[in-house]
Amino acid sequence: MVREGRKEGRGEFRGPLGEDYKTLRARALKIHRRLKRAYPDAHIPLRFSNPLELMVATILSAQCTDAKVNEVTSELFQKYRSARDWAGAPIKALEKEVRPTGFYRNKAKAIKESTQDLADRFGGRVPDTLEELTSLRGIGRKSANVMIAHAFGGAGIIVDTHFIRLSRRMGFTSELDPVKIERDLMGLLPKKHWSSFSLMMTWHGRVTCTARKPACGGCPVEADCPASESRGDITWSVKLPPKRPRTTG
Ligand code: SF4
Repeated sequence: MVREGRKEGRGEFRGPLGEDYKTLRARALKIHRRLKRAYPDAHIPLRFSNPLELMVATILSAQCTDAKVNEVTSELFQKYRSARDWAGAPIKALEKEVRPTGFYRNKAKAIKESTQDLADRFGGRVPDTLEELTSLRGIGRKSANVMIAHAFGGAGIIVDTHFIRLSRRMGFTSELDPVKIERDLMGLLPKKHWSSFSLMMTWHGRVTCTARKPACGGCPVEADCPASESRGDITWSVKLPPKRPRTTG
């Protein structure tokens, strides 16, 4: 996407489909409105009752289904109630407890390190700014934005795998890098819509605009989606992921 002139009023901006800023922004807002109407019950599927629980659940959700995370955390949240509880858990025991969610060594380590940071630097409380959250060991931008949007009711663009796929199919970005996609969408939408737009895109990606078989016929944004005719294929010029090297034998 052309960077110069990201703000309305500057003439140079062009989206991946050649739309000017005003047109692209209007289309994004229309899609947001339609998705909200289509999915009035959309919600974050991870179960939690406070920011600390959401932080742990978010760490566990990498490469794992939300249902499995909820299954695992239903017991763990009874056992570990504070940042110090998590930080003080023996690593081997924690690894065993989170093992069903996959990548259990990395996840146990991330939980211990991030909660230790909370205990050491934030008095055990989960901070509510992107800068502070991403300063915690084991917490990346996506997790931090999940926290901001869903634990604190703030504004965050959550670039998960669904968001990447959909924002490219819908022609909002040509980027592949999550940070650049976040930046593109932050420039496109008013801040007050960042969190609900993220939730709607992820929900839509789960139930309708799936990776393998997007249900374009009957999709609530079909009329405003440039990928509808090609059934999810991107036919305009966007950045493609690097080709895998050929293997022999
Ligand atoms: S029209 Fe198809 S590609 Fe576009 S958002 Fe809907 S399901 Fe996805």
